[in-house]
Formats: sequence, structure tokens, C-alpha cells
Amino acid sequence: MSTPDEINKIREQYSKYNGCISAGATHTVGLKSDGTVIATGYRNKKISDWRDVVAISCAIDTVGLRADGTLVLLRDHTTSVGFNPKYFKNLVAVSADWINFIVGLKSDGTVISSDMKKCNTESWKDIISVSSGGLNTIGLKSNGTVLGLLSLTDDWCDIVAISTGCYHTIGLKKDGTVIAVGVVEATDDGQCNTDDWNDIVAISAGGYHTVGLKTDGTVIAVGSNGVGQCNTKEWRNIVAISAGANHTVGLKANGTVVAVGGNRHSYTDEYGNEKTVEDGRCNVNEWQNIGAVDKDQILTQLQNRAKGICIYCGGKMSGVFTKKCQSCKKTN
Ligand SMILES: [Zn+2]
Repeated sequence: MSTPDEINKIREQYSKYNGCISAGATHTVGLKSDGTVIATGYRNKKISDWRDVVAISCAIDTVGLRADGTLVLLRDHTTSVGFNPKYFKNLVAVSADWINFIVGLKSDGTVISSDMKKCNTESWKDIISVSSGGLNTIGLKSNGTVLGLLSLTDDWCDIVAISTGCYHTIGLKKDGTVIAVGVVEATDDGQCNTDDWNDIVAISAGGYHTVGLKTDGTVIAVGSNGVGQCNTKEWRNIVAISAGANHTVGLKANGTVVAVGGNRHSYTDEYGNEKTVEDGRCNVNEWQNIGAVDKDQILTQLQNRAKGICIYCGGKMSGVFTKKCQSCKKTN
């Protein structure tokens, strides 16, 4: 077992990979180190246009945090609640959830959500991390306590990371242990059985399972393993993890990605028959260069792009929709 100091050090090293991969309900999204985004699975179109992104989050919708503190959003839900991007500014983190809320953490430690009343975040202050789940939105305060749940026991203290799944919420403690609480008893698949976990440096709550990244780069998982979403035992050199509805993805130190679990979803066809189709959410084998971006570099890139300056050579850009450099001829 590692000492608390060792755990903290490794956690800080890995923290730059927060928001680099995200597993959703039926798709997976990865952030490339150049600030572009890649996706696989059901309904992930248009994400390939995204630029200057520094963190991503997906569940049903997909949201990207841009270097200038604004967000890009791909909504999938037909019953989207009202969302006004105008208010989503000065953001330092974003979270998409399972019932189509978008939650953003602002640089002043307050939280904005696409439905303030339901997320109940108006009065929150000193927040350093947010996570929006199926039935609750939670915020981690700088003092290690957590806001957003109705009944949290006193042992929800010294928390350094949080994650909400569809029906459960987990917290990583400073000492590398993990605390979990289920929201609905009927949905208990053992996803809260993290009592014996230790040496954990990152956590993620999925549909009915929970995953934890250990100091040695391996990944532990509990909960529903119905489609193999907990089969992470063989994984090595992992630096970030994300649990989706029923699949799990891991980012490796070399910028590639591994995935296990469900690769199909069901739908009702035009004749009312229930069918399943492979959506490819685990097809990440060919992904490369996924990982942390240099935020300052991306910010400069974004500012240059806005001014019509080529990000490659500093030349002048021309064109209305697709901007091409007049000097190096590259498309920016
Ligand atoms: Zn150029």
C-alpha cells in the first residue's frame, strides 16, 4: 500500500488527464492533445468540428470546455431542457449528465447548470469540482466536503474527487479510499461496494458499476458486469478512466485507449419491434494522441483563429467558412 503522500503525488500527476476521455450512455469521446475531439458510438456526429477544447464530458449529451472558458455542446435528447449558452462563461470544468442537464464550474467557484432549480446549485460557493448524475448534481468544496445530496453521512469529508453515476455517487478520499452512496435501493448491483478499496487516485461512477484507478496504473471495478464492463483486470499503464452506462474506458500513458463492456443498444423500429444494434462505442482501438492539452497553447491558437492569424505560420487567413492560410496554405 502507498502512503498518503505517495497517493497524493500520483493523483496530482494524473489530474491533468481529467476530462480527456468520457464514456456515455451509447458513445465514447476522447480529447486529443491538439484540442480536437474524437468520438465513437451512437449519435456522435459533428464533434469532429470541435476545436480549442481542453476538457470533455458526455453522458447522453456531449459537452466540451473550450480554452476561453466557453463550451461547445452536442445535444442528443429530444426533450432537452432550456439551455442558454450565454450564461455559460468563465468555466473551468463541465459535466454532462444522464438526464440532459449540463453543469459548469466557474472560475470563481460557483456553479451554473442548465436547470438551476432542479440542480439546486444557486447558493454553492468554493466549489472545486462538479459532477452531474442521473438523479443528483454534486459539488466538491475546497474544504473536502460535498454538496448536493440530501443525506450525506459525516464520513463524507477529506474528499478530493467526486463522480455521479445514474443512481449512485462516489467520493475519493485523501487517503486513497473510496466512499459510495446509492441513490435508489432497487438499482443496487453492488456498485457501492468500495469499502475495501485502497491506493485509488481517480474514480468514475457509471450506470450500475464503479471503477477506480490505482497508483500502479491498474483499474479495479465493482457492480454490474452483465456485459463485461468490469473486466478491467488486465489493464496496465492507465492514467484516466471513465465509466459509461454499461461500458468502461481507460486512457493509457501512451495516448491510446482501451474499452470493455456493452457495444450495443436497443431501439424500437418503425413497426414497434424492439431491436438491438451495434453502435461501436467500444471501438477505440485505433485512437491515438489522446491526452492532456497545453491549455495556454490552445488559448493562443483560439485567439489567433479569432483574429484570422494562421496557427501554423502566423500568416494571414482568408475564406469565409473554411479558413485557409495565404502563406502556408494550411487549413486552420
Ligand atoms: Zn500558415
